[in-house]
Amino acid sequence: MGKCPKCGKEVNELEVHRHHRQVEVWRAFLNGDGEIDYDCIKTESWDEWTEEKYICPACGAILFETKEEAEDFLKSKAKQTPR
Ligand SMILES: [Zn+2]
Repeated sequence: MGKCPKCGKEVNELEVHRHHRQVEVWRAFLNGDGEIDYDCIKTESWDEWTEEKYICPACGAILFETKEEAEDFLKSKAKQTPR
């Protein structure tokens, strides 16, 4: 198991937060009670704008922002031998 550089706890997995750029298109209209109501028409999202943050599950610190860095961390730590 690896150690989080922030809190020093042993970490064998990371929490991933994915932030998507997304636009929802809604229709706004007055309903039978004369109040505004909404209908969702469509949702558009862009995969190329997805941001990933790899987070320590113990302390919540953001450790990495790319899959490659996270993979290297998990792999290198798995190969570590105790002294
Ligand atoms: Zn931590």
